[in-house]
Amino acid sequence: MKHRIVFATGNAHKIKEIKAILGADYDLVGLEEIGCHEDIPETQPTIQGNALQKARYVIEHYDVQNCFAEDTGFEVAAINNEPGVYSARYAGPDRNADNNIKLVLEKLQNQENRSARFRTVVALILEGKEYTFEGIINGNVKTEKSGTGGFGYDPIFVPEGETRSFAEMSSEEKNKISHRAKAVQQLKAFLEKH
Ligand code: IMP
Repeated sequence: MKHRIVFATGNAHKIKEIKAILGADYDLVGLEEIGCHEDIPETQPTIQGNALQKARYVIEHYDVQNCFAEDTGFEVAAINNEPGVYSARYAGPDRNADNNIKLVLEKLQNQENRSARFRTVVALILEGKEYTFEGIINGNVKTEKSGTGGFGYDPIFVPEGETRSFAEMSSEEKNKISHRAKAVQQLKAFLEKH
């Protein structure tokens, strides 16, 4: 029998990506399928706080027993791990990836330390208990954009040991090594034990 679990996202791209990692034993259900069409609040000061807030919201407001949510931040060492929890709206409220990238590159002008990482936290609520799983990928910020794939900060991020940006990789390549994939692998290992 398949295990039904709700993933608190309206992003079809993420559902597809995570379905591929979890495999056929899980019936992954997105927010639309449970009749949730609202923007779930993400008002916490940390990535972990936002992931937990989203998962708790779904459990509290919908007829759902088991649910997980994820939140991701891009953390650049030389600027105190900004944009971090503000990654989606770093350059303003309109969530414009191009402007967000421009602002990061501007702040890193003449900066030798270009190390950065993506960090994902997955928050799971299972049978009333809360669990979190973290996935990190380290790398460096380029001085200009390259590539057309992916989304968000992908065109300026080169993972450690690579020469190409995330945006120059196929989605399969990125999804093998990404922050989100690492966090979801841990979620999968945990679910398999329960
Ligand atoms: P969220 O967790 O989907 O809200 O992501 C917050 C922001 O982080 C997004 O708007 C993107 O700008 C950025 N982000 C999240 N995941 C990735 C990724 O895999 N590549 C590049 N940027 C990402």
